Amino acid sequence: MTLFSSVELAPRDPILGLNEAFGADTRADKVNLGVGVYYDANGHVPLLRAVREAEKARVEAMLPRGYLPIDGIALYDQAVQRLLFGASSPLLADRRVVTAQALGGTGALKVGADFLRHLNPNAPVAISDPSWENHRALFEAAGFKVVNYPYYNAPTHGVDVDGMIAGLEALPKGAVVVLHACCHNPTGVDLGAGDWKRVIDTVRKHALVPFLDIAYQGFGDGIDADAVAVRLFADSGLPFFVASSFSKSFSLYGERVGALSIVTASHDEAVRVQSQIKRVIRTNYSNPPTHGAAVVSAVLNHAELRATWEVELGEMRDRIREMRRGLVQRLAAHGAKGDYGFIEAQRGMFSYSGLSAAQVERLRTEFGIYAVGTGRICVAALNDGNLDRVAEAIAQVS
Ligand code: PMP
Repeated sequence: MTLFSSVELAPRDPILGLNEAFGADTRADKVNLGVGVYYDANGHVPLLRAVREAEKARVEAMLPRGYLPIDGIALYDQAVQRLLFGASSPLLADRRVVTAQALGGTGALKVGADFLRHLNPNAPVAISDPSWENHRALFEAAGFKVVNYPYYNAPTHGVDVDGMIAGLEALPKGAVVVLHACCHNPTGVDLGAGDWKRVIDTVRKHALVPFLDIAYQGFGDGIDADAVAVRLFADSGLPFFVASSFSKSFSLYGERVGALSIVTASHDEAVRVQSQIKRVIRTNYSNPPTHGAAVVSAVLNHAELRATWEVELGEMRDRIREMRRGLVQRLAAHGAKGDYGFIEAQRGMFSYSGLSAAQVERLRTEFGIYAVGTGRICVAALNDGNLDRVAEAIAQVS
């Protein structure tokens, strides 16, 4: 017997496992559509011009490396609030929003989960069926029971809004509902403004606790358009949580830049909530790292850099749209069975392609094209160099 002799091997992350298999594949024309990052037209993770300029200025300033405040850079937190709620939001004027810099969107979710656990330890957490695979694991690790609410409707390639509302209505009072604010991962299908209003009515009627996850703001229709759910919740007067991430929108994956925002009923409440959020952070990792948030803050708070970033974000969004259109066209040209037009209507980086696990397996073994077993493909991994090959392969397995 040793201390660790009874430790079992934890299951491998399915997507990371896919990446390892892709790395080991020796075929020169292999394509990895299983990734969760944005690739540019050359198949690389971009370093944005706005980021490069802000970083250059930071390096040249040669600043000392003291600790940040527990809730991060104040100018960063304020810039996050303006992106989410709009600069003229009465919530901000009333100082009812608490925002803390966090370690990416994941860190924001975890800090929020730890605080919620302290607030209401017995509440279940409801996530969409399907959802980003870490939602369940993260909330379970924080001590919650996690359940699903209906979301994706495979036959229509859309959202089962009625099923979703019925699922939410069946939850007990106080249940936490995790909602993808835009660019749903993994399906690519979002709620419309009218659907959001129904969700908000249900949340109000059943006293649910909304936790919005916005990891792709700007990848759907634009910065403000993609914040529609956040803005509608803000207008509702209800309290809610928002986890935001800049991993994709600034292409700063490894810098871990995100934020947790909590909308409260009054400034007095916000002060108390903030003190508890700081306690959660202090006892987890004390305070966040500087570099990534300083870069994002510099870009968001500097008119010229901000304009550059908005152009670059628009370029990423447009390229994804172009790839969606290109894939649909080429699938038709290669005689793929079925109508793939729905891929063009989806938003964000991902697409539930409708491919079965068996078809995904054939794509991998016969063509060296890697996708997630659920049929999720990353549209942002397509480019003019691989689009035709991918479409031809999908047509062959269709
Ligand atoms: N939420 C969703 C829906 C995501 O897709 C992701 C990233 N794939 C995250 C949160 C986490 O983002 P981050 O890398 O910033 O932790």
